[in-house]
Amino acid sequence: MNMDNYTRIKKIRQQNICLFKDYSFNCEENGKTAKNHLISKANYLKRISNQDRVLVFDFENRDYSKRNRELTERNIKKANTFNVFCSKHDDYLFNEIENGNKFDETNKKQLFQFAFRALVFSYSEQDLKDNFDKIVTNSLNKIGEAHLHNTEKIFKKYRFLIEINNWDSVETEIIKLNKKCEFISCWSGNLNIGINGLFRLSPSKISINIFPNENETVILLSYLKDDVFFADKLFCQRLKKLATTNEKKFITYIEKLAVAFDHNIALSPVYWSKCDEISKSTFYEIAHIFPKVKNLKDGLLGILKLKKLKLKLNLIH
Ligand SMILES: [Zn+2]
Repeated sequence: MNMDNYTRIKKIRQQNICLFKDYSFNCEENGKTAKNHLISKANYLKRISNQDRVLVFDFENRDYSKRNRELTERNIKKANTFNVFCSKHDDYLFNEIENGNKFDETNKKQLFQFAFRALVFSYSEQDLKDNFDKIVTNSLNKIGEAHLHNTEKIFKKYRFLIEINNWDSVETEIIKLNKKCEFISCWSGNLNIGINGLFRLSPSKISINIFPNENETVILLSYLKDDVFFADKLFCQRLKKLATTNEKKFITYIEKLAVAFDHNIALSPVYWSKCDEISKSTFYEIAHIFPKVKNLKDGLLGILKLKKLKLKLNLIH
């Protein structure tokens, strides 16, 4: 991406209007967006930080290309913040996750907010990418457009459900491992990408949240009950089962998935500093597969590459 594009990204983000404008209540400052945290800083990022700093890609920043697409340290106040909502809606939509609230798997509203957060930030990013239609080939553009349209539809469903306070509409598979977690991940996508089982294109949007919680690693796989393909629902259930029957295989899979698909992944700087160079280079190899894809063939080759590569960082241990 050339430097002009980074200026454009910044401009588009700044001009974004709150995605909840005219919903639930009136926006702050007529819909002007604030810098919203993808991951709550005090409640979650703090857990993996060192002197309030974490490692992220910060890929919408022009330094990202200059840094050779490598991780960089950011203060938790500034790590992974995007203009998506006005501050009033941001407070309202994630009030169960923020404000010092503990993770509570019995709290349906909190689980709903985790699912929605992963979905809405992915949607906002896809929407942003839609402004850059000359970067990839036509066929990939068409897939991108269909993808955006589908995510928009799902986003609108979430928005409607929030308006009627229907938290039961989100189903969450909760996986807890008695292990330490050195990263935090929050994104939304298709899990069935062929690195564990068959590759299958699907319009289902699964929200994935991975974070450390006390002495455990928590993995949340969530989706809208009425808007998920049966095969994807089954896949989430199978993954949950795999976590108990073959924990090692499950961890290998979920770590790889997070590194390959979540470019907003946040890592513990202390842990990273202890990793050797070979482990770091395989991490980058996996993390760089998909951001570099410019056409459909590369995408499929990327999946094959992902299947072959072995991530050597024990991010969950
Ligand atoms: Zn608003």
